[in-house]
Amino acid sequence: MTIPNFPERVSLIHTPTPIEPLTRLTKMFKGPELFIKRDDLTGLAGGGNKSRKLEYLMAEALAKGHNHVITIGGAQSNHCRQTAAAAARLGLGCSLVLKGSEADHPQQNGNLLLDQLAGAHLYWTEGRPLSEVIDDVVKEHEVLGHRPYIIPLGGSNVVGTTAYVAAMQEAVTQFEAQQLNIDVIVVASSSGGTQAGLVLGAHLTGYRGKIFAISIDRTADDLKMQVGALATATAAHLGVQPSNLMERVEVNDDYSEPGYAVLTDVEQEAIELLAQKEGIFLDPVYTGRAMGGLIDLIRWGAFTRAQRILFWHTGGQPALFAYANQLQK
Ligand SMILES: *Cc1c(COP(=O)(O)O)cnc(C)c1O
Repeated sequence: MTIPNFPERVSLIHTPTPIEPLTRLTKMFKGPELFIKRDDLTGLAGGGNKSRKLEYLMAEALAKGHNHVITIGGAQSNHCRQTAAAAARLGLGCSLVLKGSEADHPQQNGNLLLDQLAGAHLYWTEGRPLSEVIDDVVKEHEVLGHRPYIIPLGGSNVVGTTAYVAAMQEAVTQFEAQQLNIDVIVVASSSGGTQAGLVLGAHLTGYRGKIFAISIDRTADDLKMQVGALATATAAHLGVQPSNLMERVEVNDDYSEPGYAVLTDVEQEAIELLAQKEGIFLDPVYTGRAMGGLIDLIRWGAFTRAQRILFWHTGGQPALFAYANQLQK
């Protein structure tokens, strides 16, 4: 195992997150053998994958003397919710630039409610270009004497991605301790940082299985290119020189077509199955779609019965409440 020198991080979360068997689901499908990595239990303000990234992003913000963070996302962004909570915990100000119009979100529930409870300032793009709105927010805060630090979409730059290199090492250590041979890790991928970190981590640990990403909202080619570039840049950031990273970048985009944050039968069925068979809640946007895709692939016979598959739960449950009308029967 090549262990790079990880940069400083602030401690915000509980790790290692558990790996659990999905016993009843496995039985229902008669294999493959299914497991789950519970990054919905990272512990910061409802948990999720962005909390891992924020340990490194916030460390950089603090080290560089910033006292305010600005980030972006959709109205029900899990990343924005976790950023707001991390900023609160560290005594930093937080501004969120949300894509869309305030008028379209009269019901402030789910993540949007939590953003506000955590004291974040909310700005809506209202149809303006994102970069323009961010520039205005930066200026507004600089005038107030704040020193804003900008976190990109999903926290997916080399600093945030570093967290998932470490997370892959954490998982491989658990596989060894539990004598667990995982053939395929399935993960939802959108801004790509989680997947890129896992890919680089897999390379550095010598993990022999696959990292298989289900694209939430992008074509496979587009996401693959982004993940490859991000994994390579993160390697440079960590001072390691991997070869053939691209070979490990696998993306399935069969389930992305309905578009971002659109709930279909695929997500609905996966959410209900996991809740009713395992007592685990998925989210409507990411893990519902990724697990729905995995279930579909199992039904198509994409895996053998003996294979061991680990579904990496990346969190997002607060968004369920914003979909109450659609999820209720
Ligand atoms: C952001 C997010 C993802 C996607 O992670 P990326 O690093 O952006 O690809 C997956 N699941 C949930 C719940 C998320 O909030």
